[in-house]
Amino acid sequence: MIKKIFSGPSSEKMPVLFIGHGSPMNAIESNPYTVQLGELGKRFPKPRAILVISAHWLTEGTWVTEMAKPKTIHDFYGFPQALFDVQYLAPGSPAIAKMIQETILNPKIHGDLELWGLDHGSWAVLRHMYPHADIPVIQLSLSIEQPPAYHLRLGRELAELRDKGIMILGSGNLVHNLSQIRWEPHAKPYDWAVEFDEWLKTQLNQRDFKSVLNGFHSTRAGQLSVPTLDHYLPLHYILGASDEKDQLNFEYEDLQNGSISMRSFSLSSI
Ligand code: ZN
Repeated sequence: MIKKIFSGPSSEKMPVLFIGHGSPMNAIESNPYTVQLGELGKRFPKPRAILVISAHWLTEGTWVTEMAKPKTIHDFYGFPQALFDVQYLAPGSPAIAKMIQETILNPKIHGDLELWGLDHGSWAVLRHMYPHADIPVIQLSLSIEQPPAYHLRLGRELAELRDKGIMILGSGNLVHNLSQIRWEPHAKPYDWAVEFDEWLKTQLNQRDFKSVLNGFHSTRAGQLSVPTLDHYLPLHYILGASDEKDQLNFEYEDLQNGSISMRSFSLSSI
């Protein structure tokens, strides 16, 4: 085997992360969750770029941001002005967007130059992990009409980017039921939310990704925890881009607002 001559930090195989983002307020608060995100950003070698699959960019077809300067999108209502004032001005990377388009050939990945940018699924997490905003960030959209198997396949195809210094980050929530939400962040979680979150933890620990990816609606707890797929599908990319040599590490676990799981984990071989 030929050893790589250039072995700077960004040439190491990058981890894949699933981060539960929860309420946008986490973006401007300091709490055990945001502190843990800060620690996470320091733990891994600095990536060459971060590819985010966010629950908040839902499209027909699959799109990638390819602008050099993605704008900060405030895609929510009814929050304090301080949250709307946040700017996370990380650069984009047209070159890496092109690399992604060349990595996934079927279907064609559309390039977006103006519509999107970074939504709060990205910046609410990244401003804690990488507060200097000096790492290029690219977003990939969720083609919402596609079945879970499609998202898993794209995740598998994206796995090779990890060897090119690109961190892949899925931003969603494993339990996410807004119709049942309690506005107090520390409200007692619903029994079904606890049950499903614990079930996921067990399946992930047992590496039974098949159940996680296909069996999430097999119980009433799962149906209540995943009433829509948008916050669950980023998980398919992360498990798709993982490999068996990766070590699973739960980075944070908690339930906020009664019906939102903040469970976050990494799969990493470094
Ligand atoms: Zn969200």
